[in-house]
Amino acid sequence: MAQDLLYIYKEELRQLEENSNLRSLPEIIHRGGDVTLRDKQMLNLSSNDYLGLASDLSLRKTFLESLTPENFLPSSSSSRLLTGNFTANSELEQQLSRLFGSEDSLVFNSGYHMNTGILPAVSNHKTLILADKLVHASLIDGIRLSPAAHIRYRHNHYEQLDSLLRKNHTDYERIIVVTESIFSMDGDETDLRKLVTLKKSYPNVMLYVDEAHAIGVKGATGLGCAEEQGCMADIDFLTGTFGKALASVGGYLICRKTIRDYLVNKMRTLIFTTALPPVNLMWTRFVLEKSAGFGGRRKHLETIGNRLREELVAKGYSCPSSSHIIPLMIGDSRKTVLKAEEMQRKGFYMLPVRPPTVPEGTSRIRISLTASVRMEEIEKLISLL
Ligand SMILES: *Cc1c(COP(=O)(O)O)cnc(C)c1O
Repeated sequence: MAQDLLYIYKEELRQLEENSNLRSLPEIIHRGGDVTLRDKQMLNLSSNDYLGLASDLSLRKTFLESLTPENFLPSSSSSRLLTGNFTANSELEQQLSRLFGSEDSLVFNSGYHMNTGILPAVSNHKTLILADKLVHASLIDGIRLSPAAHIRYRHNHYEQLDSLLRKNHTDYERIIVVTESIFSMDGDETDLRKLVTLKKSYPNVMLYVDEAHAIGVKGATGLGCAEEQGCMADIDFLTGTFGKALASVGGYLICRKTIRDYLVNKMRTLIFTTALPPVNLMWTRFVLEKSAGFGGRRKHLETIGNRLREELVAKGYSCPSSSHIIPLMIGDSRKTVLKAEEMQRKGFYMLPVRPPTVPEGTSRIRISLTASVRMEEIEKLISLL
């Protein structure tokens, strides 16, 4: 009997393999900005370590000097609502509120916890969620878990969004517009000021923006696209992760105090999970405090991104990106896998992205640049593409 049940899974795995969509967990050894895989050393162009901070040894050395056996706490042993709310938590949240100039903030175990927890908590059956078609899986899962009605609008299509708002705003108690600032797979950016203007044309609209790929990378002090576009205070749920450019782990929300108090009472992925270890929170605080000073890294990342995008367009690739996330659009899954393998043989660790992560027929290689990549390496990559 058990044999039969496994057969169903095996058959599905076989089909995935046949369509070049089978995934597995690669065994990776990291050395600075390089990775070694099956004895082959390659430049890592698949990391979210956008500022090169996670691979920066001197940063870790400095941080380690502040640790003692007493304050090195690798576990919080409990939910924040029980005994897991260490001072490191409130210190990080005070720092976030200070940096963002916000009334309040709240830290979560990960961006995934954040996105699957906030929307179900703050919505009810009188809520409508309008979400960009390309939002991250964690946001889609949050929408699925919420009692709200929802509609996905065409990617960054502000006219369609406006007509949906106009048509629906009187039928619901509130509408929450959900989007990202830099999109994970296309690397394009959202006009947040436009969304703020739309939001302000209706009495009952809130704005939820995920800055996972922009925190650390965009803005004069690295606080994201909302800082760059001067609209941090107009976004009701300004969120992001510490797991990418900030080289740590966890998610954050910049918000009003009422929202924070409400989530502390209602958000299941905050309440029913063991809080982050204090040592991680301390490391996040350490990196975040330095974030404003990483302007040179941000500038270099922008320069190499501009160079690569310019060259892809010249070679005839369609390139939706305007950031450090640059898709090499291919289309067919099998061709994408072969091309990625070829580039890996040539020393560049780039990975194919296939359905269901991206829509059918839009398979691509996702190049994710980091500030530790040198211009010579970009030129070499260009010559080999
Ligand atoms: C990576 C990512 C997340 C998840 O954040 P984690 O901290 O890795 O769980 C959420 N949203 C977006 C847009 C992401 O790219």
